Amino acid sequence: MKLKKQVTVCGGAIFCVAVFSLYLMLDRVQHDPARRQNGGNFPRSQISVLQNRIEQLEQLLEENHQIISHIKDSVLELTDTGAVSPSGQLPFRSANGSWVLPFDGRPTFLSVKPQDCQFALVFLVMLDVYSLLSFDNVDGGVWKQGFEITYEPTEWDNEPLQVFVVPHSHNDPGWVKTFDKYYNDQTQHILNNMVVKLAEDPRRKFIWSEISFFVKWWESADAHKQDVILILGGQLEIVTGGWVMTDEANAHYFAMIDQLIEGHQWLEKNLGVTPRSGWAVDPFGHSATMPYLLKRANLTSMLIQRVHYSVKKHFSSSRSLEFMWRQAWGTDLFCHMMPFYSYDVPHTCGPDPKICCQFDFKRLPGSRVNCPWKVPPRAISDANVAERANVLLDQYRKKSKLFRSKVVLVPLGDDFRYDKALEWDQQYVNYQKLFDYMNSHPEMHVQAQFATLTDYFSAVYKANGVAQGQRPPGYPVLSGDFFAYADREDHYWSGYYTSRPFYKNLDRVLESHLRGAEILYSLAVAHARHAGMEGRYPTSDYSLLTDARRNIGLFQHHDAIAGTAKEAVVIDYGTRLLRSLIGLKRVIINAAHFLIMKNKDVYRFYQTEPFLETDDRRATHDSLPQQTLIELDSSPRYLVLFNPVEQERLCVVTVLVNSARVRVLTEDGQTLPVQLSAQWSSAVQMSGEASFMARLPALGLAVFHLYDSVDSPMTLRSDTLLRLPGRSQSVRGIDPLPVRSQVADPQPFYIQSQSLTLGFSGTTGLLESIRRKDDPQEVRVQIQFFTYGTRPSKDKSGAYLFLPDGNAKPYTQRDPPIVRVVEGPLFAEVVTYYQHFQQTIRIHNVPGVDGLSLDITTMVDIRDQTNKELAMRLLTDIQSEDTFYTDLNGFQIQPRRYLQKLPLQANFYPMPTMAYIQDSQYRLTLHTGQALGVSSLASGQLEVILDRRLMQDDNRGLGQGLKDNKRTANRFRLLLERRSSKSKKEAVDSGPVSFPSLLSHMTSAILNHEVLALPVIPKKRGVPPLRTFSPLAAALPCDFHLLNLRSIQNQDAHSPSPYTALLLHRLGLDCGLEAQNPGFNCSTTQGKVSPRSENRGSLVIPMSLTLMYSAAPLSNSSIISLEPMELSAFKLKLR
Ligand SMILES: [Zn+2]
Repeated sequence: MKLKKQVTVCGGAIFCVAVFSLYLMLDRVQHDPARRQNGGNFPRSQISVLQNRIEQLEQLLEENHQIISHIKDSVLELTDTGAVSPSGQLPFRSANGSWVLPFDGRPTFLSVKPQDCQFALVFLVMLDVYSLLSFDNVDGGVWKQGFEITYEPTEWDNEPLQVFVVPHSHNDPGWVKTFDKYYNDQTQHILNNMVVKLAEDPRRKFIWSEISFFVKWWESADAHKQDVILILGGQLEIVTGGWVMTDEANAHYFAMIDQLIEGHQWLEKNLGVTPRSGWAVDPFGHSATMPYLLKRANLTSMLIQRVHYSVKKHFSSSRSLEFMWRQAWGTDLFCHMMPFYSYDVPHTCGPDPKICCQFDFKRLPGSRVNCPWKVPPRAISDANVAERANVLLDQYRKKSKLFRSKVVLVPLGDDFRYDKALEWDQQYVNYQKLFDYMNSHPEMHVQAQFATLTDYFSAVYKANGVAQGQRPPGYPVLSGDFFAYADREDHYWSGYYTSRPFYKNLDRVLESHLRGAEILYSLAVAHARHAGMEGRYPTSDYSLLTDARRNIGLFQHHDAIAGTAKEAVVIDYGTRLLRSLIGLKRVIINAAHFLIMKNKDVYRFYQTEPFLETDDRRATHDSLPQQTLIELDSSPRYLVLFNPVEQERLCVVTVLVNSARVRVLTEDGQTLPVQLSAQWSSAVQMSGEASFMARLPALGLAVFHLYDSVDSPMTLRSDTLLRLPGRSQSVRGIDPLPVRSQVADPQPFYIQSQSLTLGFSGTTGLLESIRRKDDPQEVRVQIQFFTYGTRPSKDKSGAYLFLPDGNAKPYTQRDPPIVRVVEGPLFAEVVTYYQHFQQTIRIHNVPGVDGLSLDITTMVDIRDQTNKELAMRLLTDIQSEDTFYTDLNGFQIQPRRYLQKLPLQANFYPMPTMAYIQDSQYRLTLHTGQALGVSSLASGQLEVILDRRLMQDDNRGLGQGLKDNKRTANRFRLLLERRSSKSKKEAVDSGPVSFPSLLSHMTSAILNHEVLALPVIPKKRGVPPLRTFSPLAAALPCDFHLLNLRSIQNQDAHSPSPYTALLLHRLGLDCGLEAQNPGFNCSTTQGKVSPRSENRGSLVIPMSLTLMYSAAPLSNSSIISLEPMELSAFKLKLR
């Protein structure tokens, strides 16, 4: 009864605060002149002022009504579940058999303002283009995938054709060779020759994009530094300037931005250059996230290449290859799409590869490479220059007919080109002769030259009379993306969305660690400086951060995270990632050590004696992590929990302990209920893990005490039931954890929590239904497994391509699976053991985010299979028809349509963080902890490819199959949401724009940023007093994602400057899904946040995304304001 009173008092208090803030807000509205100005036409007459105030009042009342109803909900929820336990603080079983947890006395609320729910504007949409195209692949003649191009010879009489030939060399930072091997064999020679050969003639130009290689060369090539600075004056252009040319399907926007910052920061410090144009000739399909990131980094134009041949043909025929690539929420970037098959020379001078190949002078007779079209190049001489120039001009003219201006771009290069001095001479000397001839013959009406990419774009803008980056009149505007990519026939590059899922998962783990390490390091260094203890803190950890930024950056390369490199190269990437993971765990531990010390005076750092242990360990780069065992005795063992999420988090934490009598206390001595369960080494072998509910501060570190205690009434054992297919198996339980077993029957069985009831098939042991506590309706959500084979024909699936032998076949095995059902006060789970996978579905019995979705881990091992792909399919009654939704880079949602006219493999899309289906009633979202390929092949279905084992190469240059499969843990969170009655129409009408709900964003955050449990290592003289560290003075608005808090490098490259980069993303929200209590306090604020209270900053400078351009520092009174979906960077001086 006492507790109930507390709850009521608390709820009442919040009500009062809410009413008071309503008053304050009204007051501010009236007196805040800035706000009035923003409002634009504030009415002048008395009546309209009054009207306006009434409207504001109504609106605020509406918002407050929501807040109050949320408080009411959370209070109801608590009383309803009987949170006031009859036995004080102990969890207990209610009459219906479900576990009830004691309430920790903290009601929560969520307030989302209607203005913060965004719906956007749209233009020419790729989705419609796909619906329109016939994908018939008619033979186009010399331009096989296109059409015949004709022109009138007089077309350039008044305005000559401007030809910009851009020499380039595509350097993969790892593919068939490792990064270092490529560097030693080719790249260093390319760059060495570059400085010599460009210096020979000021008319020569060159572009470079991979900064990872450039840095390695720069650091070893002292002699050339001066020369480089000279040619940077205009002969050498750095394009994009990222650490690598990133994969755009599997890469997460955190890592895409981080590698762009790493590249740009290096360029700014060492060369003083700022890239203007983006260059992406090889990623296997292009994402709409890229133009946004480049735009925010202040680039003005971009180029893409690998787009479906039918789309290229369509865009060519409508002269739409150059367009403004626009986001659904408005901002855009000028984009050039290359029209032909490839970025090599035969496919860049014009439509006829047989002709263009004759102008690749590296292929002159006697060279290792030749022209497959059987006509070799001829060196240019006085005798043939006229004829050659006319043949080439014909191609240039035809190519230019596909574009709207009389300016034509002609890339001149290929993979690892220009590594020999001879090639530089062959290309540059022969082309110069052709240019000289063309330019000296006015009757040809052409001006040809070597150029950089930006030279070309500048000429296009100039020809159109618009400023750099502006939309030329009449140019199309387009939104959407370019997946799935096909280069010929039905060869869709949708296999690499899943290839090598082990490393796709490891990459995500690394990204979360990097973000966590950056944030904690920045905060620790700021605190240490403020306390005058900089000399005692290991600031040199900065080099570990740099190492990790660069290795994770390297892994974003389009053959790395894509899973399309040779086995030896995969090992090189894996080894780098593991080294960085170990380094990042050290940065986190060192920062956590300093931040949790109650008395900083007694802080001592010893390199060889870490204060904390890591949460887990990986023996090798290709093994799964082993959780750290916490050895307990009667003296307290401290445990530090790090919450990398920017909202307070109520969650179940599980640690491995050596005792069955574990007792867990909070920092202030409150005993927590513990669920003791077994860690299972096989289906029937177990050894103890302790789970407890923890409330963790946003981005903070919380301290807990663990004991081995004889008297631990709060420690409750899990109830374990093995459902066995027959009576032959024996079960060995370990005292004191009882295990019951029974022979499985075909009847469905259920597990439940305070929010969810899950039904499972008695036969397959797999999920069959979900029922939300607030919904009387049980929803069918069936999980089934399927396999795809490969075709009998010549072209088979490989690392890049998915070429299935027809529809998937149900996965079958001779014996029914063993199924283990574990139930306790904090969680319940079902583990189903099949030969090639084990699936664990766990639900947490806690209020809020952690308790509202299903935690699914699918352990996959297909190492004994040949030419098989394993798929997990979700089958529901949701009327999704042919529409489904997948994310792009974890940044935005792209609606998809299943197209019957396309082959099955064309309907698969990348899923870096989530995919969902929906109808007017429900939305089912599968959140993922690693990038995988996904589709919806029928209404109500979602299907994910979990792993692929392929025995052959797929003829895209790799020269290998995919045979190095690992035991892989694929992580998911499945969330079933219900649409509120008033937004049912919106769900149907939302068209080509969609956003996740706030709950979905939070679910993705907790899946991708796990709590790190760091045990304090026992000290001989005892552990000094520790205390919880919470860095945020006030909660961040709930639609703000703190993407990074990244220490900026000092001049010396090995230590941090006094500045930190704060990267914020304001999330786009769909508020039409019923908001369940997420378990934390937050509200939306129309995109406004005060930097001073949130981030302890004393100086805030708005920056471009990669910190190359700055605006005036914010004045003391100003607040940060972000538009929906806006990503912004700020430079802060923390204190
Ligand atoms: Zn490449």
